[in-house]
Amino acid sequence: MQQNSINDSGLDLHSLIAKNRFGTFFGVPQALFDEVWQNLTASDGNSVAYISMEIGADPDVFHPIKDRLMDLERTDSMDSRLKQFIQKLFHGPEKIPCYGGGLGVLAGDTLKSFADCRIPVVAVSLLYRHGYFSQIVDSKLGQISQSVDWHPEKTPGLYLLRDPKNPKQPLQIQIPFFNEYDQETIASAQVWMKMEVNHSLDFFVPELLLDFSLEENPAPIRNAAGQLYNSESSFVKATQRRMLGTGILPVLHELGITSNTLHLNEQHGVVVALQLIAEELQTSTKHSDPSLASDKQILAAADKVARKLVYTIHTPVKAGHDRFDKTVYAGMSHKSCRHILELLAHDDEAPHSYNFTTLAMRVNRSTNSVSRLHRDVTRKQFPGLAEKISAITNGVHHLTWISDARAEVFDAFSQLNSWREDPGVFQNVEKLCNDSRFRTYLRRAWDKDSIILYDYINRMLLQHRNQMSSTWIDPPNYYSNLIDADNQLDPAVFTIGFARRFSTYKRADLIFDNIDTLCSILVKNKWPVTFLFSGKAHPADEPGKSVIKLILDYQEELHAKSQGLANLIFIPNYDMQIAKMMVAGVHIWLNSPKRPLEASGTSGMKAALNGVPNLSIMDGWWVEGYHDGATGWKFGHEGPVEEADLSESPEALLYAEDSASFYQTLPLVLQEFYEDDARSRFFDKAIMNLCLNVPIFNTHRMAAEYLQRYNLDLPSSLQTKMDKFAGLYNSNI
Ligand SMILES: *Cc1c(COP(=O)(O)O)cnc(C)c1O
Repeated sequence: MQQNSINDSGLDLHSLIAKNRFGTFFGVPQALFDEVWQNLTASDGNSVAYISMEIGADPDVFHPIKDRLMDLERTDSMDSRLKQFIQKLFHGPEKIPCYGGGLGVLAGDTLKSFADCRIPVVAVSLLYRHGYFSQIVDSKLGQISQSVDWHPEKTPGLYLLRDPKNPKQPLQIQIPFFNEYDQETIASAQVWMKMEVNHSLDFFVPELLLDFSLEENPAPIRNAAGQLYNSESSFVKATQRRMLGTGILPVLHELGITSNTLHLNEQHGVVVALQLIAEELQTSTKHSDPSLASDKQILAAADKVARKLVYTIHTPVKAGHDRFDKTVYAGMSHKSCRHILELLAHDDEAPHSYNFTTLAMRVNRSTNSVSRLHRDVTRKQFPGLAEKISAITNGVHHLTWISDARAEVFDAFSQLNSWREDPGVFQNVEKLCNDSRFRTYLRRAWDKDSIILYDYINRMLLQHRNQMSSTWIDPPNYYSNLIDADNQLDPAVFTIGFARRFSTYKRADLIFDNIDTLCSILVKNKWPVTFLFSGKAHPADEPGKSVIKLILDYQEELHAKSQGLANLIFIPNYDMQIAKMMVAGVHIWLNSPKRPLEASGTSGMKAALNGVPNLSIMDGWWVEGYHDGATGWKFGHEGPVEEADLSESPEALLYAEDSASFYQTLPLVLQEFYEDDARSRFFDKAIMNLCLNVPIFNTHRMAAEYLQRYNLDLPSSLQTKMDKFAGLYNSNI
């Protein structure tokens, strides 16, 4: 940018206000806004609409506009309108609540990389009025979920779009819903927009969030619009899927957005395929009623529609695949769609259901799994469609997840000069492997991040202890009974981090399967260890919640049997901020799922980006990131994956076998960390993570591989840059 650039300390903040027919937005210059909008509305359709049930992009973790204004010390303004924007930006405090699911965080990271790489993308998702839930943890009761209130109107960076024909009114789209007698009711949605602005502040990806919570909507619609992953009934779930799926085309149409390619991040929005097929049938058969079309005509239309859709499947776990009883789903969609559903969403295993995963698998031009192992498993699950399933291994947004202290180190070495723009330059770390200055700086940064983490933990433990008298909550951590000013946890102690959603197949409690064995290893060698856990269970997932309770119940026993060497700490209310602190501050990242149910996993990548080694089951991304031990440790059952391995029943979860393997591996890890002559080998693994894993497990590389599925026509310099990122790896070998 030339004049009035946001890099300029003489910046006129007015130049960061942009307008169009739908509203007034703060954060990007008008020219940039127009450029992005023109790309998305051009008649050639050379853009992508990315569809996701949730977008997790916490502004407290990554917010380039705020960072830049802070740098320039422009945190206030005399102008009343600017003041409004800026005050909201700096003093929030509201932000879009994030359920903290891997799917949403991945969506956010992906969109941030599209923005960094200047790829024309728009995202469509839903807005949930009642937020998600806040997790309180009580040592006797386990997880308690507390609903959170939030106000989109008060949320910085979130704009309610206006109706250009009637600018006093919000823009609305109308979606017909049907009851079981095929009577129509109309549901309306207003549209919120958030801009995912890139780190160099010269591009953004708009996110359109459909809000069905309007007063005038029928009660079941409003109810379903309240909360994501509301599992009250399959009716609510099916309603949410339909709100997303049927909202896509109307909202794009209303805004004039022409994207030829739709990318479905999971099948949640796949109902859009039904609409596209119905439209295609109207054109090709001239029937106004697609239910009059023949099977052959429908299949031909589906083939045509498939060329528009790219699909990412995220899990081999059955609960992640949507199946709806025919009476439930047929009772909300138009009867003309039923014939299409019968043909394309048929489920042999459940003939009374429509299977939306099957529908998504059939109608696309590319089905992508999230890791190589997940591809092989998915091919076994859908043998008839095996050929079109390929792997694009997930990544994480490196600018979001690399800690400030680590970033300072990378900035200090010319070999890593352009690391913000190009995560591929981390290949150069190989040349720094034996550079003592690099090693010293990196170690200091790591120590600094551990201190930040432990400051948080010690403060939290004290606060929980002090809260005991003022609330009814029993502190979740046993250590709150022990802590005082002289008895704080020590950041130099080897710290194992584990944080993700709690569900049984993720086996958070695996490593405590035999506490006697675990403690004997520590006591024999006098090795202190902190086990640091965090994560929410879905409020309706009773088995998942009971794993949290188990973790809490182990704390005292572990402390006693290890003679105080081992402490197990649980941080409540896991979110992206806690994640960012943990992945940089711990000494190793643990993932202990039942193979092959993890599919990818991304938190381990966040650790790897900070040079933190993983200690994990050979599942998901770790099969690809392990590099024969150069970057960390593996444990547990490997072997070929069979259909039977997909079982989640308690007896099939391999606790005894995999925990025994963990107890064999743990001493190797602790020896390297604690024994002076071995410590440099531990540190080598940190460095090899930077060198081998950062260039691969980032969303720039992932976005570049997806581009190969999108068939966009990009300017040649941009295409060259993206080809270079894609060239860093080939997920699909
Ligand atoms: C990264 C992240 C996840 C996903 O972690 P997985 O290892 O993929 O399960 C979930 N929640 C939050 C808050 C995250 O930051």
